[in-house]
Amino acid sequence: MNGSMLCAVCLTADEVRLMDQAIGLYFCGRCRHAFTPRPKHQQEVYEESYYLEKHPNWFANPNYPFFEYLRKKIEHYLPKGKRARLMDAGHGTGDLLKYLDQKNANLDLTGIDSLKMEHPRIHFIQGDFFQDTAKEPYDVVTSLMVVEHVNDPRSFAKKMYEYLVPGGLLMISTNNNDSLIYVIGRLLKPLGVRVVFDRVYSDHHLQHFTNASLRRLLENHGFEILELRNHNYPLKAVDTPPAGPIVTKMYLAAVWVLFRVSEILGNGFFQTYVCRKKA
Ligand SMILES: [Zn+2]
Repeated sequence: MNGSMLCAVCLTADEVRLMDQAIGLYFCGRCRHAFTPRPKHQQEVYEESYYLEKHPNWFANPNYPFFEYLRKKIEHYLPKGKRARLMDAGHGTGDLLKYLDQKNANLDLTGIDSLKMEHPRIHFIQGDFFQDTAKEPYDVVTSLMVVEHVNDPRSFAKKMYEYLVPGGLLMISTNNNDSLIYVIGRLLKPLGVRVVFDRVYSDHHLQHFTNASLRRLLENHGFEILELRNHNYPLKAVDTPPAGPIVTKMYLAAVWVLFRVSEILGNGFFQTYVCRKKA
């Protein structure tokens, strides 16, 4: 299959190889990006059930320490005391925006997603951010755990660029294809154990960025990297596979060990880049 598939990030063909036939997963040797190309009609539609049924713990336990980290970055990089416009592209249940609304009175907050939401001070737009045209560009754009769901990450990066004022701040989070859990999944698969591999490369994620491939995507689309953070999330937000209480406990214990070890190694499950649109 070499040479027939273009990398979703760097567009090279000659270093792209089929990594897993069963889920149609490709790997690019040039930028180290993994991806599952999928025709539009097979792409997942995000309805309320995605948030509430498939990821109950995740959405019931917002990651407040991480929201606070983002809030501090906004405070650090934006001019002091000036009112700013912030857009959360793919706001999910809106928890980041609600947190910022509580903590920072100097932000005009907007979110766009397929879910209908209402709030007295946050402007929630129900729709597709690829189709949306902002009347006025934003000073900050956040996008948490969204880019791994899109079929074309280059169009996504272009859209984030369009949303921002020159010098505007983009904060983007996604899974980390070089994180410990991914590495373990890839090591176990040739031994016939697919369970970890199938979970990390689960079919609703189409893009699996490494620090290198996400950096390349951002830099190729006019962003200057300010900070990178590899991290995990609170244990109570982990969604466990349907099983009895003992299996669930063992699963959570294994995740706890993975989180602690990956924190020491610096290859947590998530990565977040803080970057700036070049002026
Ligand atoms: Zn590539």
